[in-house]
Amino acid sequence: MQLTHIMTNLGKFSLGVGDRFAHQARAQLQACLLAGNAGVDVIPVWNKSNREHTIIGSEPSSVRVAADAAVAELGWKLPYYCDADHINLSTVERFLPSCDFYTIDVADYIGKPAESASIDRFVSHHPELIGVIPMHTNHQDIGITPELLRSTATKFLFAIQEAGKIYRRIELAKGEGTFIPEISMDETDTPQTPAELLIILAAIADESIPIQTIAPKFSGRFNKGVDYVGDPAQFAREMALDIAAIQHAVAAYGLPANLKLSVHSGSDKFSIYPAIHSTISEFSAGVHLKTAGTTWLEELIGLAEAGGDGLALAKEIYAEAFAHSKELCAPYATVIDIDPAKLPAPAEVARWSSAQFTAALRHNPHSASYNPSFRQLLHVGFKVAAKMGPRYLDLLEANQEIIAKNVTENLFVRHIAPVFLGHPVT
Ligand SMILES: [Zn+2]
Repeated sequence: MQLTHIMTNLGKFSLGVGDRFAHQARAQLQACLLAGNAGVDVIPVWNKSNREHTIIGSEPSSVRVAADAAVAELGWKLPYYCDADHINLSTVERFLPSCDFYTIDVADYIGKPAESASIDRFVSHHPELIGVIPMHTNHQDIGITPELLRSTATKFLFAIQEAGKIYRRIELAKGEGTFIPEISMDETDTPQTPAELLIILAAIADESIPIQTIAPKFSGRFNKGVDYVGDPAQFAREMALDIAAIQHAVAAYGLPANLKLSVHSGSDKFSIYPAIHSTISEFSAGVHLKTAGTTWLEELIGLAEAGGDGLALAKEIYAEAFAHSKELCAPYATVIDIDPAKLPAPAEVARWSSAQFTAALRHNPHSASYNPSFRQLLHVGFKVAAKMGPRYLDLLEANQEIIAKNVTENLFVRHIAPVFLGHPVT
């Protein structure tokens, strides 16, 4: 296999940003400019899933238009990308004209067995995977038994074959080496172990998919917009072995040399950012951190902080989200944990000041007023704002300055600084 003809190269550090209403690209890019000023290049990737486009009623071309405009206005000189996020064969088409990054989501195919002949072929082609694979690190080695090789192939080979079909569809439309392929497996129930990841990477190389990022499901909970739930030390051990497995697979199977981990639902995972920073530093590895939904919450924070009509609209959005919480939460069941008892009644929120509303919503882990259930419900509540249409967008525009300040500060101070610069969250 030869996957070295990469024209488009995602860089070592990249940040997935999401802009549900296509109004914050400039404020987001500003955070990457601040990173550059601090000495680290962080490549912005604007991502928006088919699910978000469908809920909002937007088209992928709007993401491209907003990104191009922000890049032109701020004079951004480094690469930037638009990510067709969590696509598959049935949803990829409308992303083809405007995206140059494709998150190929195979979660739905995991566990569906491939033809037994192809499983046999994979197992017999990869005797080198059996045994103890030395990882050349201070960490434990990865051991794979013949049984594990076969059971992993049975669980994942079909999914990787499907990824190959999706990849080839994109390549046919866009041309080889003109876009960045990622494979994501995060929206599934069980985490993949580093041993499974290594076997999966061998299968991806066999399918000749030149992925530059891979998004496994890590252990612990990666809920939307709130902190990691799990053991940060366990996460650190797992991430180190995942990176070691990637580095081994790059050398053994000719996958792109810049292949790196992609951390989905990566915003606000403050308790593991020190581990992410120290692990990528130890391995001289890159990382792609997806932070998409956090920007929409900064829009709400900015509106609430502005007071007046902005605060009134933020309260109205909460009241609507509260009334329709079941329907709003359903598509996100695996990535949120809301305690209904902790959700304030809309009548109570109606009496809140700007300071009370922003303190409940803003993710300041040191603040006693911060309410993760309130934050998660609003995180999935963007459909309410989408339904308001121009009422919401006009207020965004009227309060652009205060919103932009919150968007930039959130991305730079709470995300870029701890992950890429190694500064603590302040
Ligand atoms: Zn994801």
